[in-house]
Amino acid sequence: MKKRLFSIVLSLCMVLALMPQMAFADTVTGITYLDASGAQQTCDNATAVTEDDTTWGTDNETTWYVAQGDVTIESRVTVTGDVHLILADGCNLTVNGGIYVSRWTASKLTIYGQENGTGELYAYASSGSGYAGIGGNKEPYGTSGEITINGGNITAVGDGIGAGIGGGDMGGFECITINGGTVTATGGNNGGSSGIGTFEGGNTSGTITISGGTVMATGTNHGIDASFMGTISTGNDGHAVIFASYTNSMGSYFRYSSSQNRDSWRGVIFEGNSGQIYGDDITPSESFEIPSDKTLTIDSGKSLTIPAGKTLTVTGKLTNNGKFYVDGTLNGTVNGNGDVYYNLAPTDCTVSSTGIEKHNEKTYAKEESEITLTPDTPQVGYLFDSWEVSPESVQINNNNSFTMPNEALTVTAKWIECPHDGDKETRNAKEATCTEAGYSGDVYCLVCNEMITKGHDINMASHKLNYIPKTDATVTETGNDEYWQCTVCDKYFSDAEGTNEITDLEGWKAGDGKIDKLPPEIIEGKGQSITEGEKKALSFTSNAAYSDFIRVELDGSELSEENYEKAEGSIIITLDADYVATLPAGEHTIGIVSESGTATTTFTVAEKAAPGTSDDSDRDSKADADKNAKTGDDANLALWLALMLLAGAGITGTTIYTRRKRTNE
Ligand SMILES: [Zn+2]
Ligand SMILES: [Zn+2]
Repeated sequence: MKKRLFSIVLSLCMVLALMPQMAFADTVTGITYLDASGAQQTCDNATAVTEDDTTWGTDNETTWYVAQGDVTIESRVTVTGDVHLILADGCNLTVNGGIYVSRWTASKLTIYGQENGTGELYAYASSGSGYAGIGGNKEPYGTSGEITINGGNITAVGDGIGAGIGGGDMGGFECITINGGTVTATGGNNGGSSGIGTFEGGNTSGTITISGGTVMATGTNHGIDASFMGTISTGNDGHAVIFASYTNSMGSYFRYSSSQNRDSWRGVIFEGNSGQIYGDDITPSESFEIPSDKTLTIDSGKSLTIPAGKTLTVTGKLTNNGKFYVDGTLNGTVNGNGDVYYNLAPTDCTVSSTGIEKHNEKTYAKEESEITLTPDTPQVGYLFDSWEVSPESVQINNNNSFTMPNEALTVTAKWIECPHDGDKETRNAKEATCTEAGYSGDVYCLVCNEMITKGHDINMASHKLNYIPKTDATVTETGNDEYWQCTVCDKYFSDAEGTNEITDLEGWKAGDGKIDKLPPEIIEGKGQSITEGEKKALSFTSNAAYSDFIRVELDGSELSEENYEKAEGSIIITLDADYVATLPAGEHTIGIVSESGTATTTFTVAEKAAPGTSDDSDRDSKADADKNAKTGDDANLALWLALMLLAGAGITGTTIYTRRKRTNE
């Protein structure tokens, strides 16, 4: 009992331990694939295809599968729902029994390749089944659901009258689309089969669209058959290579309903052994071969381009009467009278030749054309050095020319860093001034035009100062201090270093730089004397500017204007005689006040003597003095003249004065 329990527990543990591993083995995450347009996408989760799993998908669901490595399934696989199958690069998936995609269950199958397109799928209908390689079984299950192929190498072989891809025995198809990949679809061996599509009698036919890839469709009676109300299209941008063949003596390459024509077809399309370009300018996206016995003709006015990385192998025959452009590889020979152009891909240079032609924005050259290369202007700091050519067998001559080979060619101008050992030039140098900083200039290599040395700023220069001496003040005019003016920028400064700018010279002269006017003084009318009550106008002159006049002060008090007259020159104040008569005896001080100061002097009002005394005696003594003076003058005339000869006027005056004084005594 205990032993049994233990073994059950042990078994459970083992199952649990295995479960995650099983899940890991079946699910692949982050797998890339190319979509219908050839763009790489990533599928988050896909179920790995295994040899035991013969039912792909779930009804009404979208499921993803990936085939990796070698997988062989020994029976027919049934697709259910919307199944997406990725053929991983390098895989080899063989389904012996083929793949059933049923219209009745609305099943869909979409097949993708990866970046290199090397995944392979072989789908063979079983012998005697009458099934399609990929598609229907047989009536009532003969009609296939939607089949789309975007990449991979797919070989599908039907049985009986079953198509390679499409309807099984007596079946039709819903929709078959091929956007890429290499597809070989071969119908069953019985009379009436098609490579792709329906059978001779026809059943429900949708649209067969082959826009890309390389498709070989071979049936006993028809290559591609959409005759039962269906159409055959090459899509909007058809660039597929299609080989349609039939093996019976009677049949057709393409069969479609009578309402259709092939005017809109585009691609490289072979009917049996004869291939043509449909559309004006076709670039197949895959490498392909023109098999032996087959001839591809490029008609005049049409062109075929082999893209870079792809190869056209001419085992049969290529007749070019139009234009043939080779970006990739051409294996084999080209006949016909058309031109063959090989891609010439210049990098950092331009090419010129009479044999050059532009096509689809690329440059091509005819074989044997003499091509001249011109390097582009190198990036600053670099010089042209040499040419890098692929294939390396092509020799570039010293004059930068070469002969175009019969293969695509890339040529690149190679640069080397300039050693800067040639001529140099200084640019952008600027002398500093007192208003602007300067620049030492950048040094450039004239060979490669690179700046070798960056310059540096130069500080502003000091001002060039001109000294303007001070202007002394006068009584009537203010003066100003010395200052300086820059001869370059014309600015004014109050210091010799040019640091204290005078922005408003006139304002400065009237303000900080001002030297006040000299104080005024009385220049006429000093020491006048009158007698009390005497009506005599007294004049005083201040040397101040007339315009500076403010008032007159007498004995410290402002004198009313009615008591004096004011006249210009400089300031002449004349005290009114009537007013003067009112002044009391004594010494009086008169001040002429002006903006520059007060000019002051005194005058005397003498006391009036008693009538008859002082006045008369004064008059008498004066008369006496006059007499005496006259006498004295006469007596001393000779002496006076002698003195005049000996001395100046001052001395003379003094002498006279002395004489008079003496006489008065
Ligand atoms: Zn240089
Ligand atoms: Zn200056």
